[in-house]
Amino acid sequence: MKDSKSLGFQTRALHYGYDSLGEEFGAVSPPIYMTSTYAFDNTADAAAVFSGESSRYVYGRQHNPTQELLEKRLANLEGAEAGLVAGSGMGAICSTLLTLLSADDELIVHHTMYSTATSFVHEGLPRFGITIKKLDLTNPENLRSAISDRTKVIYFETPINPTGQLLNIRALADVAHACGTAKVLVDSTFASPALQNPLAHGADLVIHSMTKYINGHGDLLAGAVVGDAETIGKIRTVGLKYMTGSTLAPMLCFMVMRGLKTLSVRMRQHGETALKVAQMLEQHPAVKVVRYPFLESSPDYELAKKQMHHGSGMLSFDLKSGLEGAIKMIDGLQLISRAISLGDTESLITHPGSLIKARQKVEPAARLSDGVTMDLIRLSVGLEDAEDLISDLRQSLDRLV
Ligand SMILES: *Cc1c(COP(=O)(O)O)cnc(C)c1O
Repeated sequence: MKDSKSLGFQTRALHYGYDSLGEEFGAVSPPIYMTSTYAFDNTADAAAVFSGESSRYVYGRQHNPTQELLEKRLANLEGAEAGLVAGSGMGAICSTLLTLLSADDELIVHHTMYSTATSFVHEGLPRFGITIKKLDLTNPENLRSAISDRTKVIYFETPINPTGQLLNIRALADVAHACGTAKVLVDSTFASPALQNPLAHGADLVIHSMTKYINGHGDLLAGAVVGDAETIGKIRTVGLKYMTGSTLAPMLCFMVMRGLKTLSVRMRQHGETALKVAQMLEQHPAVKVVRYPFLESSPDYELAKKQMHHGSGMLSFDLKSGLEGAIKMIDGLQLISRAISLGDTESLITHPGSLIKARQKVEPAARLSDGVTMDLIRLSVGLEDAEDLISDLRQSLDRLV
């Protein structure tokens, strides 16, 4: 019953893969297996495992019962065959790309993406002879003309960090699959599985930084990749096992499952509050533009309704007063925290432009991702009362006009 396909998302987020009736002591909350290694019955037992004749838990870098439950549950919630969790979102991204790409292969990415993923792709991977093609994927035809026999992965985010704009998963996956065998890898961190299932729109693999919405409480780092069992198995035995070693500890797997219990409830509230905040910002005379896909005025609105159940808490906006105004507005906030990261219960605000200016002092080549202006402010709307967030933003914005 608890693993039935007909159960709703929220029910599966609570129960999938675990039945307290079958558990010793009937523990309703799944036990945490705090062990790094597992004893063999005898040498023949060990030999059977290492020769592939039998399978069982061996060592915690690749397998642990608590980790496996979280992996099964995530895979189920994304409609995937299999899942793998990692020590952070970057751990999941690196484990995946270092498994799927080799020297002379090509990776295609959208030109705007999370800043550390940008560094990995543009500074890290080329050192290993991997070619990167950076495109504007808002037009799927750009993908058609760039794809080649050497293209092994097409990788993009939707919604995109930090702008909150969308890419059309179905259109891009259709082009990719018509043109070759490259895997379409979607980073769905800004949506979480409660709002968007990229596999249902044709993607092959989905990445999450579980540091963000899935855990949701801003108290740990974790990542995941889900997809077909064969590819996930490869990422486990290559990327995770000997390229990155980016394992998620059993205690943290337990905590992520605790966050997962309230994911869809939290997302509903994040979305409801973010829409109110976006509507207020849109009306404010100091604001030049607001990007939130579920604003009716958004160019992404029609796509948003097709691709996502509703909006998350992520939005971005530009002010008419530019860089100086953005700094003044952020420094004037009294309730919303000035902090990187996102998807937490607390609202967080960042200004990538001033962070990049500071970084350029030590790293002159550092620059903003294409499509991110010096004016852009990214807001992760938390679970505070909407009225309180709106009055905090308003008192700071009012000082600019
Ligand atoms: C934060 C983030 C990551 C990286 O995740 P970490 O858990 O911080 O390593 C990757 N992709 C997106 C879209 C993110 O927002």
